[in-house]
Formats: sequence, structure tokens, C-alpha cells
Amino acid sequence: MANLSLRKVKKVYDNTVVAVQAFDLEIADKEFIVLVGPSGCGKSTTLRMVAGLEEITDGEIYIGGRKVNTVPPKDRDIAMVFQSYALYPHMTVYDNIAYGLRLRKFPKRVIDQKVREAAEILDITELLKRKPKALSGGQRQRVAIGRAIVREPQVFLMDEPLSNLDAKLRNQMRSEIIKLRQKVNTTFIYVTHDQTEAMTLGDRIVIMKEGFVQQVGTPQEVFHHPSNLFVAGFIGTPQMNIFDAQLISEEGRYFVELGGARVELSPEKSARLRAGEVESQPVKLGLRPEHLMLTDQDNAVFAAVDVSEMMGSTVHIHVSACGRDVVIVVPLGEEEETESLPMGQPVRFIFRGSAAHVFDAETGHNLEYRRQVAEETPGTEETAAPVEPVSEEEEVPQAAEAPGLPEELQGVDPFADDE
Ligand code: ADP
Repeated sequence: MANLSLRKVKKVYDNTVVAVQAFDLEIADKEFIVLVGPSGCGKSTTLRMVAGLEEITDGEIYIGGRKVNTVPPKDRDIAMVFQSYALYPHMTVYDNIAYGLRLRKFPKRVIDQKVREAAEILDITELLKRKPKALSGGQRQRVAIGRAIVREPQVFLMDEPLSNLDAKLRNQMRSEIIKLRQKVNTTFIYVTHDQTEAMTLGDRIVIMKEGFVQQVGTPQEVFHHPSNLFVAGFIGTPQMNIFDAQLISEEGRYFVELGGARVELSPEKSARLRAGEVESQPVKLGLRPEHLMLTDQDNAVFAAVDVSEMMGSTVHIHVSACGRDVVIVVPLGEEEETESLPMGQPVRFIFRGSAAHVFDAETGHNLEYRRQVAEETPGTEETAAPVEPVSEEEEVPQAAEAPGLPEELQGVDPFADDE
């Protein structure tokens, strides 16, 4: 059993930099958790605290029911794969993978079997005699994963393992990690700044910003029910369009008004707003590009085309509407040919009430979950949840550089037993 429990875990560096704030998470045995967020939000620090590479300032971490706050990395029964592969350059692939097992004095026969099994899983059997310098980036990363696999850890930690690879290799390795996960049946915590990686790999995703957890949920939950504007903007590509709009409450029904269009929210959404006693107010209205539909009807938002990009199976139409840039994704049928829309061409678009996300104009919180947030943090009805106000103007970095392996860990294995 390797469930994990992080309770109010906090990290302050040098008594000044608060990297992680009261991180609370229960991770089930064999769950695949992804920590995602822009550079500097505290993902690596959280992972490194689980690994034991970073001291915990406050809170508790349990692995398999055992409190590990002061347990050294090598005794936590975990394995970690870093962004930089940290392979021993003078050793062959075989020896790199076998190294930790040799230190633990496993019998030669057992080591050989484990190394070959791992090589098989990772499809690197042919490379076992090579040295790291004769390998591509993707192959080196597989060796690093192989070294972690043979340890058969209770928890597998991965810190941006794919960010040194080019786009094509990343896609390939991403699907290999999905397969790996099925073969190595253990608990994973995976750190990335890439929302696509998070969405495709995670059973649940933890979205972080500036040391605060913004939302924890399945990929579907965070996509369809973002807890605030930050999550709404971070998850999904192209990014969600955010408008200044008006929410109207009328005899228990809810409408949004945007640029002359008036759309009734779906019964589910209305029910949640009713439960939170949300009143008519100016809101930030979030509409995903793929949920906007071009239309001829009068009840519509008027826009002018800026540019349209042919993406193959879809067209991304950039328009100006309500004083802002808006992206509309139009799917194309098998045979469909679209004439590209000329710049300045007037168009109209509309959306369904089930696709509208309404956020508090000031705090950025999703108004549908106001009641829930208020219940979780009593006495803070208006500004609940430890989240600062977020605005849609804020840049959401999608591909920031992640910090590499610290120098002191280059070429060494912090999880190996001492020689
Ligand atoms: P992420 O992995 O999300 O990019 P990190 O966990 O690496 O973020 O960093 C979180 C915050 O802590 C950042 O502000 C970063 O500058 C700071 N930080 C990270 N490591 C150290 C350190 N060793 N000393 C001081 N500050 C640090």
C-alpha cells in the first residue's frame, strides 16, 4: 500500500521565500497525480519535500501511513526521475540501471532479471551495452526511468521528465508514460508546467499558482468546472475567452448578457447559482473557443474577423468582439472546404447556456461554487479560498523553463544506499 497524505505542508526558503502554502492532498494507492502550474508556483518544491530532498517547514507527509518528515530519501521507498537524467557517464546503460540494486547487494541473477525486465518495458534492450553519451535525449530519459523502475518503489516521482525533449519526442514519451503506468502499477506524482501533459496523464490534477493550490480534480472536472479564472485560463488550449458581461437573476432563472446577446444558463448551472444565492451582477464570463458557434440569428454577439488560421480538422477564427480579441474554433467535416474569412468581415457568434462559466468580477472565483467555497471556509463568504484575485489580463505562462537538477545532485543518486 502506498497512499500518500500531505497535510498542511508548507515550505519557506531562507525564512523569506514562501514556496508552498498549506498544501493538503490525499493520494490514493496507485493513483497518478500531476502537479501543474507556471514556473515558480511550487511544484518542484512540493515533490522534493515528498522525496525528502527538501526539508518541510511545516505540516506532515505520510507515505503508506508512515510519517516521513525526517526520514532520509533513501528510506522512503520512492524513486525519482529528474528533468536532467543524472546518469553516470562512465557506466553502460546496464550498469546505470543496475547500480542501485548492486549497492543494495541484490544477487547478480536477480539484478540481471530486473534490469532486463525494465529494459524490455522501456524498449531499450539493444542499448544496454552503450554509454549515455551514445544515446539520444529520449533514450537517456528511458534509462533514467529504468533505473527508477528496478527499485520497484512504492511511489514514483517525476519532475518535468520530458521537458528536455523536442516536441515530437515528448508526445511519444508521453504515451509511453501512460503505458509504463499500466505496467508499473504504483503511485505516481508527476510535475509539469505543460497543461496538455497534465490533462493526458493525470487521474487527478493539482493546479498551483504562487504556492497555493488552486484546484484539485480529474481532467474533466478542472476543464468543465474551473474553480477560478486562473484555472480557466490555464487549462485548455486555445485559452478560454473571458468577457466582461452581466449576470441576470430573474425568478430563479439565470441569464448572461453579452454584447447584445442574452443566453439562459443551463438548469444545472442555474441550480448551483441559486444554491449560492448569487444575485444579478457584472461578471467575468468565460467561453471556450470550441463552444462559440457562428450564427445568423439576431440574438448573437457581433464581431469582426481579424485572421483565420486553418489547423486541419478545425479553423481558428480570431475576431474582435466587445472590445477584445476572441478565438472561435470551428470544426471542419471530412469533405468540408472553408473559404478563409477576410479580415474585417462581420460575423456573429452565440453559445449555449451550458458552456458559459461565470466568475466573480472581483475575486475571479467561479460563482457556481460560491456556496461550496463558503462552506469550506466558514466566515469568508465573499472572498473564500486562499486564492488571490486573478484577472484575465494576467499572463498565463504555458511553456516556462523549469529549474534543472541542482548541481549537488548531478551524477549522484540521492535514493541509493550509501556505499
Ligand atoms: P516550480 O517547480 O513550480 O517551478 P519551485 O518549487 O522550483 O517552482 O519554486 C517555488 C518558489 O521557491 C520560487 O519562487 C523559487 O524561486 C523558490 N525557490 C525554489 N528553490 C529555492 C531555493 N533553493 N532557495 C530559495 N528559493 C527557492
